[in-house]
Amino acid sequence: MKCPKCGSETSLKKEALQKSGLDYESHYCTKCREGFVDMKQLDELAKKEKSLRDAKKTKISRWGNSLAVRIPKEFATELKITPGKHVLVSRENKALKIILQS
Ligand SMILES: [Zn+2]
Repeated sequence: MKCPKCGSETSLKKEALQKSGLDYESHYCTKCREGFVDMKQLDELAKKEKSLRDAKKTKISRWGNSLAVRIPKEFATELKITPGKHVLVSRENKALKIILQS
């Protein structure tokens, strides 16, 4: 993609929003150093923001040498999460993602 300001080549850059820590991809002009997002990138970010709006606050507790995250009852019920269920926890920048195993 060409820079809309100066017409030079752009490169892709990973950035994160200061407040929420949401990461997103943007175009970055190597010449005038202008940064901008296209519609697809904006759409991706909007989707992430929406899922964050549906997020619930929870508290981390100590569990032996580990830490445990309380899963809100509503999510547990909706997703049929029960004690003993196995999940995968992956790291995405400043976020943790819990993936349910079937
Ligand atoms: Zn430029």
